[in-house]
Amino acid sequence: MNSARTSPPGRTVRVRAPGKINVFFRVGPLRPDGYHSVASLYLAVSLYEEISATSTAAPGNTRGNTVTSASGRVNTAKDGNIVVRLKGTALNSEGPLAVPLDERNLAVRAARLMADVCENAGAVRLEITKRVPVSGGMGGGSADAAAALLACEKLWDSGLSREEVSHLAAELGADVPFGLLGGAAVGLGVGDELTPALAPSPLHWVLVQADFGLPTPEVFRQLDRMRMADGVEPVVPGQVDPAVLAALRAGDAAALAAVLTNDLQPAAVALAPQLADVLAAGKQHGALATLVSGSGPTIAMLAADEAAALELAGKLAAEGHNCLAVHGPVHGAKIVSDVSR
Ligand code: ATP
Repeated sequence: MNSARTSPPGRTVRVRAPGKINVFFRVGPLRPDGYHSVASLYLAVSLYEEISATSTAAPGNTRGNTVTSASGRVNTAKDGNIVVRLKGTALNSEGPLAVPLDERNLAVRAARLMADVCENAGAVRLEITKRVPVSGGMGGGSADAAAALLACEKLWDSGLSREEVSHLAAELGADVPFGLLGGAAVGLGVGDELTPALAPSPLHWVLVQADFGLPTPEVFRQLDRMRMADGVEPVVPGQVDPAVLAALRAGDAAALAAVLTNDLQPAAVALAPQLADVLAAGKQHGALATLVSGSGPTIAMLAADEAAALELAGKLAAEGHNCLAVHGPVHGAKIVSDVSR
């Protein structure tokens, strides 16, 4: 911790953080802490959340043509406060996909946590540009948390090491440390024990977004129910299949296609049977492989190269699917600008 002064009002730190897909996801038994042990291969993809953190003279100003609500302002543990604004394409202001604007918002929780450990924390306005589908299985909220941690860390000059910031990230959720790290990484434990994986060549994917969400805890519960009904005793998954790591190292999309795995897929499809048609449509239109991303309902389709991904996206869009060609790995949470007014 250091003794630099609080940022003057009007300084804005902008951070970009990626959504992720899990190209390999094995789920073990439920642990006493309520989480499942997993073995995951995370891949950060080129669909980004963006957070601007602006130091304000408390209390902050919530006006603007963005979605705000009376609950968009919360007190930090310090004197200042946190104001949240949302904008972007992946946004609903009401219904099950509405993103909370109070302390349930992961970016707010991240800013609060950082405020707790920063001498120089002050009032801040967080503007979140959401592009990653909400409750889509792509870790959008976790990306927001990672971005907010990094933005506030810079704004308040925390003096924390990257490792210390990563420990704070793990307090916020299993996927948040990966939002900071990005690239490709093995995640063990609950997904937060990360080891970077080599993936030197970009892989090209088509993401098909649903117009509904699947709450992650519900998908895990469905998997537990299905396993119990089938008499399956899950074991703690010790590692990611070495064939996945080899395919990533070689940048070999065809080899990777043969080993993509997601234990949550049958559970997500059981809860949302229409996903089976999307998975089949991808195969029919030339995807090398298709899988549910994380807990779904976003579907990730692996293509041979960029041209194949664009062609696949075109065919799926013509059938009315909401899809997007992306590539990965890409960087984790990164400061893109730091300006004072
Ligand atoms: P997971 O990391 O489990 O794959 P997800 O990608 O399926 O999650 P998110 O959009 O990250 O889903 O989180 C969805 C849930 O988190 C919703 O209940 C939403 O209300 C809550 N939430 C809290 N903060 C945020 C945020 N900044 N963005 C999106 N959802 C948020």
